Amino acid sequence: MTDASETDKTDTPETHTPDEAERHRAKMERRKAVQDAEVAAKTIEKGLLIVHTGPGKGKTTAALGLMLRALGRGWRVGVVQFIKGGWDTGERRAVAAFGDRVVWHTLGEGFTWETQDKARDVAACRHAWEVAQRLMADASIRLVILDEANIALRYDYLDLAQVVETLRARRPDLHVVVTGRNAKAPLIEAADLVVEMGSLKHHFAAGVKAQEGIEF
Ligand code: ATP
Ligand code: MG
Repeated sequence: MTDASETDKTDTPETHTPDEAERHRAKMERRKAVQDAEVAAKTIEKGLLIVHTGPGKGKTTAALGLMLRALGRGWRVGVVQFIKGGWDTGERRAVAAFGDRVVWHTLGEGFTWETQDKARDVAACRHAWEVAQRLMADASIRLVILDEANIALRYDYLDLAQVVETLRARRPDLHVVVTGRNAKAPLIEAADLVVEMGSLKHHFAAGVKAQEGIEF
């Protein structure tokens, strides 16, 4: 990796009169006091249940960003892909570099409209959930990503109540990220952090196909 921060000198400070500078300093001092007090009031430490949902792009890639952050902290990470089949993705290739620090299972048989076989999809999702539970029980793993599990839940391929109960009962230090559109209400209710990716524009609508390195 090369670090460009040393050479980035694009910030030019604006010029202020001494009065303006003092007002700004006093304002920032008050703001810092408020922020410090707010930060000091937050004392709980816990493994988070995080949901990335919504129609916009970024649910899976944001989860992979968290994986990178966790790896940087020396943690082991588990990833279970519930829906996607044996696609050759950039992320799959990249995690090979981390060896056994990333345990990655791609268990889906592909999209439902590709397999056109409900019994097979259900069996694949149930197997994926078994693997997910094993990873969540592994004390050496601090972050588990259940990619597209929301899709499996939406189609009732998994028992929603049982999944939510298991996620609620996770180890206190385990972070879990669940991705996929149309997150179910009980999962949102159980989660600590829910992010809805909105879609303002997507190149797909303009006829642009999935781009290597950006979408897979
Ligand atoms: P990504 O993996 O890029 O973070 P995602 O996980 O948010 O995307 P999914 O619902 O898993 O999105 O869909 C996977 C694919 O669908 C991605 O290749 C993405 O570019 C595409 N996609 C996401 N949002 C839209 C959209 N609003 N319109 C069309 N295609 C989309
Ligand atoms: Mg996704």
